[in-house]
Amino acid sequence: MDIEQVVNHDYCIGCGVCRAADPAIEIGLNKYGEYVANLNNSNIDGRRLASKICPFAENLNETEITDEIFSGQMQQEFIGRFSGLFAGYSLDDRELGSSGGIITYIIRQLLVSKKIDYAILARPRIADNIRGLEFSFDVVSSEVDVNSGATSFYYPVTYSEALEFIAKNPGRYAITGVPCFHKAIRLLKRQNPIYHERIQFQLGLVCGQLKSALYFEYLLRRAGVPTGKVESACFRRKDSKNRADEYFFEAIVQDNDSKKDIFRISNKQIGVNWGMGLFKPKACDYCDDVFAETADIAVMDGWLPHYVNDGRGTSLIVVRDKRLLDVLTGGREAGNLHLEDISAEEIVRSQQGGLNHRRKGLAYRLSLSTGKIPAKRVQPSSSFPLLFKFEQIIRLALRKTSRHAMVLQTKSGSGLLIFNVIMALQFFVYRIVQKLKRIFKTSTY
Ligand SMILES: Cc1cc2nc3c(=O)[nH]c(=O)nc-3n(C[C@H](O)[C@H](O)[C@H](O)COP(=O)(O)OP(=O)(O)OC[C@H]3O[C@@H](n4cnc5c(N)ncnc54)[C@H](O)[C@@H]3O)c2cc1C
Ligand code: SF4
Ligand code: SF4
Repeated sequence: MDIEQVVNHDYCIGCGVCRAADPAIEIGLNKYGEYVANLNNSNIDGRRLASKICPFAENLNETEITDEIFSGQMQQEFIGRFSGLFAGYSLDDRELGSSGGIITYIIRQLLVSKKIDYAILARPRIADNIRGLEFSFDVVSSEVDVNSGATSFYYPVTYSEALEFIAKNPGRYAITGVPCFHKAIRLLKRQNPIYHERIQFQLGLVCGQLKSALYFEYLLRRAGVPTGKVESACFRRKDSKNRADEYFFEAIVQDNDSKKDIFRISNKQIGVNWGMGLFKPKACDYCDDVFAETADIAVMDGWLPHYVNDGRGTSLIVVRDKRLLDVLTGGREAGNLHLEDISAEEIVRSQQGGLNHRRKGLAYRLSLSTGKIPAKRVQPSSSFPLLFKFEQIIRLALRKTSRHAMVLQTKSGSGLLIFNVIMALQFFVYRIVQKLKRIFKTSTY
């Protein structure tokens, strides 16, 4: 597939890296609240260059890229290359961080020790949309600004502005991102020496799926936030007394008397939406990199029995770059980080659900596809139990229908009645499938 086919067949994830190759490409939100590339103004030469860095176009795959950059390191089938595996947290950043605050700690250390001049991270900003708020990549150069990015933003983001900044401003950068974004950056670095020289550290987040901007609106409505502006929001507000996987979505709204109202909904109340894949871009169903294999480090939640009971949060860490390994071990020696060694098997087990969806599930989805599909490291296969296949099909339907249902809902007014009516049958069928899985003791996600 070239970039045109990626966009035309809905596999664009909106990373915006193609714009660094061809500035005529525009990145904007579509009606489903997903960033997508618009190629209308780009010419054949521009598209050819951009095709070479698009993570969903026919290019080097993650294994081929890492064979070049991390050769000589240990290797595991799913994790990819690595030089160290840890579980732990930052004593200072754990409270704000999504899991153990490891990424926030690393960025601050890199700035303080002058190993970088700038960090590109995601954080909230005032926006010209109905909620007056969005979450986007931003450039920070002072250690005090790093905390404003701590936590995970389940919201569409794009590198397009950040890469423009990097091109115009010489210096050394660290950049956060999900796996497919890092793959695109690696491909860009192969093409353009400026980015190769300036982007010194790629900080990866393990990724199960991205969400559209409609998910944010859905959460606001589920939490009972009235229509109108939102002052701030957090997708992962922790409660240290609960388990780590029992967190809240929280929004703060200023009322007419300048009083601040806090609205919250726990992820348990939201239900099994992660497995359902509501508001997920299509590209995420055709992705086989869970562990940000091309990033210099990959950090994830401690979804293991040993860690999940501690609501303060624990990160699991796959480190590849030697300089970042030194930052971590130095932090441990200085008493700023708590780090334990962990095995590759435990790391894999912590992401088993996501891996099943992106290996066996992907193999089945690929076998179902009739049109163009991106080249994957997984081969199409339909040799799976009937219940497993049915679950994949219902998930595809849930993803597609949720996008349309929420567009209709937002056009028709407040609440979620229309959304729930449209989704009711599929929700019902999905719950039956989950019950059958429990009865037959099968696990797919
Ligand atoms: C969309 C998404 C899906 C994820 N899926 C999984 C999963 O399936 N399993 C799992 O174990 N972990 C997943 N994670 C990772 C997990 O939520 C934490 O981000 C990770 O454990 C790092 O936590 P931390 O406390 O060390 O990082 P923090 O100290 O909280 O720092 C996180 C850094 O990442 C940046 N950031 C936040 N959101 C984004 C974004 N969307 N794009 C780029 N940068 C961002 C922040 O600005 C911050 O600098 C996901 C994260 C995201 C954003
Ligand atoms: S490089 Fe990124 S934004 Fe551009 S077409 Fe590919 S996925 Fe979309
Ligand atoms: S699931 Fe894959 S395609 Fe989707 S955002 Fe994460 S890394 Fe990218």
